[in-house]
Amino acid sequence: MIDIDLKYKIPLIGKYNRRVIKCPHCDYDMMSKMFQNTRGFADAYIGQVQIVECSKCFEPYYHHVNETNYEVFLEIVAAGENKFFNT
Ligand SMILES: [Zn+2]
Repeated sequence: MIDIDLKYKIPLIGKYNRRVIKCPHCDYDMMSKMFQNTRGFADAYIGQVQIVECSKCFEPYYHHVNETNYEVFLEIVAAGENKFFNT
């Protein structure tokens, strides 16, 4: 269980994406933009998830989050590079 800051928690939206880096709606490869386009984190039926917005079609999707992913997200936010959270 990752101790996710409440300010980064949002209601679960979008659809589950098993492929993680490829948008389930339009197949766009989000590899390099995933953390910049992370809208937040939620508690889902499958566990803690990271919610990402596709930078091409703007549809949200989610996948499992691990400690490393969350730490990278925090670094991106601290660097002022996240689209939804500015420090
Ligand atoms: Zn898309």
